Amino acid sequence: MNKNNMNNKKNRDLNYLHLPRAISDIDSLKISLSKKDIELTKEEIENIKKVIEKYPMRINSHYLSLIKEKNDPIWNQCIPKIEEIEETGGEEDPLKEEGEVPFLTHRYPDRCLLIVSNTCAMYCRFCTRKRKVGEAIKNPSIEDIRKAIKYIKNHKEIRDVIISGGDPFLLGDKTIEKILVELRQIPHIEMIRIGTRVPCVMPERITHELCSILKKYNKRPILYLNTHFEHPNEITEQARLACERLIDSGIQLGNQSIVLKGVNDDPKIFKELNQKLLAIGVKPYYIYQPDLVKGTSHFRNKVEKGLKIIKGLRGHTSGMAVPHFVIDSPGGGGKIPLLPKYSTINKDGSVDMINYQGKKFKYF
Ligand code: SF4
Repeated sequence: MNKNNMNNKKNRDLNYLHLPRAISDIDSLKISLSKKDIELTKEEIENIKKVIEKYPMRINSHYLSLIKEKNDPIWNQCIPKIEEIEETGGEEDPLKEEGEVPFLTHRYPDRCLLIVSNTCAMYCRFCTRKRKVGEAIKNPSIEDIRKAIKYIKNHKEIRDVIISGGDPFLLGDKTIEKILVELRQIPHIEMIRIGTRVPCVMPERITHELCSILKKYNKRPILYLNTHFEHPNEITEQARLACERLIDSGIQLGNQSIVLKGVNDDPKIFKELNQKLLAIGVKPYYIYQPDLVKGTSHFRNKVEKGLKIIKGLRGHTSGMAVPHFVIDSPGGGGKIPLLPKYSTINKDGSVDMINYQGKKFKYF
């Protein structure tokens, strides 16, 4: 069976969105960039061609519109660079997500991750699931999703399901509804979290129809939505409206970001990003040290950078704008928080503390 037939077979039951045209080859990239007066050099063209043979490119019109110049924080997230295939550090699946049940990771006792799609509106060059996003053949079928849901049904200790991808909102409304209906029928599920980058990269996908489905199923189990903004320039009027629509449907919004070299690795950028997120109703939840994923090492910084960012936030802005800084530990050990050193507990139980201005205090 050739690859295309297999794709058709695998996705027969799944209803994906009919996505508007996006840039996925070098010629359309050249044309679109030239409309912004940006020309690619011969070397860049050759490099991009080589990279997209291994890791697909997809840049939708909204995300493209945010690029202001070469190598700006938006460019660096969506335009392929040769380092993706030249740097050899890292692993395909450093978090050991692939397990016994396809498309399901059950790492912590009471919660699990359910992958419902490997398709995204835009393929982020730093993606942790770079090993599979963008390949239709690696999309789950409805049968795969059913098997994973059956596993959840049989494991009564699971109370929290994280629906992720790819991007779950690249599925059609009916498929999203089917998945929510099936999960709702499991009595031990108390909450469902949806991880999606759509409010940032394709805000027009947050339609009234989608919101009314989410609203309908936002009760027992309750729905939460975690989105993924990386830079203040991504907080556009369209993104604000998308978040407003979700909030009006009763959905609570959180944000996860990654500390990325060439994108946001600066306390000032994170301060602006997190303040802007709170202003549109999105609570900054986690910032991650990048995972040790093959093809992404050019985005990685020293861990100290992340600690510096937390130091630049704590006390310098609202506490709600200070997320947890975590490393998702290689080998599947889960998330481990890291904090700058603010205190020492003495033998007598007293605590020596340093505040955000570097002033010393003692608590007896
Ligand atoms: S939207 Fe998420 S899953 Fe898709 S490419 Fe970006 S980071 Fe990866």
